[in-house]
Amino acid sequence: MIITLERGAEPETIRRALVALGLWVERFEGGDRVVFKVEPHSRSVDREAILAIRGVEAVATPKAAHPLVDAMPRVVALRDLSLGTGCPPVFMAGPCSVESEPQIRGIASRLAKAGVRVLRGGAFKPRTSPYAFQGHGEVALGWLRKAADEHGMAVVTEVMSEKDASVVAEHSDLLQIGSRNMHNYALLKAVSKHGRPVLLKRGMAATVEEWLSSAEYCLVHGAPGVVFCERGIRSFDATTRNLLDLGAVALLSGVHQLPVVVDPSHAVGRRDLIPALSRASLAAGASGLMIETHPEPGVALSDGPQALLPDELASLVESLTKEEGRHVR
Ligand code: PEP
Ligand code: MN
Repeated sequence: MIITLERGAEPETIRRALVALGLWVERFEGGDRVVFKVEPHSRSVDREAILAIRGVEAVATPKAAHPLVDAMPRVVALRDLSLGTGCPPVFMAGPCSVESEPQIRGIASRLAKAGVRVLRGGAFKPRTSPYAFQGHGEVALGWLRKAADEHGMAVVTEVMSEKDASVVAEHSDLLQIGSRNMHNYALLKAVSKHGRPVLLKRGMAATVEEWLSSAEYCLVHGAPGVVFCERGIRSFDATTRNLLDLGAVALLSGVHQLPVVVDPSHAVGRRDLIPALSRASLAAGASGLMIETHPEPGVALSDGPQALLPDELASLVESLTKEEGRHVR
């Protein structure tokens, strides 16, 4: 946003009024004119409130970079579930990888009893090392769907390649784009053609604007909705696996009213910190959580150190549900 002052206006008085509104501004001068550029991390303020300041001549707002995201429905439907601000939190849980049919059926039954309505599990795994377990592929999609159907659960699972988009869409209710693929626009286009909402994980080094633009790709190419998933961004500090950006969660949910969920598992990388981050995420405005859960983390084929046991997940869901009931957002 660019704010142009009237000739002869008092820039310092106007700067103070803008700061008081919550705007971060940078001053530029050219000839006898002064303009203020508003930084993107400012509070959103109505144009009219700025125009009402004495000495402000004009306010120019650039065309929105993501008009469909700005206009998209604020609540995403997932079978009989509603996910978004104002709705009860949606819990998504399951193993990092779908390891076998008995494994996913066993977990699904325990998670369903705990109140989890969306079953997660990777069939196609984006692993940093080519030597690590890559997922069982298509056969695991069938195991996952069957396990979820036994308990009336929805399915979320990752699509890694354009060629797999239709088979993943046949088996799942929410199509996950992993952090490593948030910028893979060909994949975003392919995934969005299937009439299913997309769970768009934030790229590990992506800005919020880039994340919103990737969501715009999904909507332009036919996705009926996008659920944003904050899963931690890279930081200079390796003490935790990533850095959970709760400011972005509060911004997307509180200011833009967009449906956001948090994946504390990949954000922090260790199971003992997941309850605290889950609580903080809901307090920041997240509409749901996605938490990795495994019956035997020590033998998990991927991400064992961050997996909760099914009982731990059940008590976390129970306490979060009680706490949510006490708070009015
Ligand atoms: C996952 O959810 O299984 C996953 C690989 O996550 P991310 O893309 O956030 O690393
Ligand atoms: Mn994982």
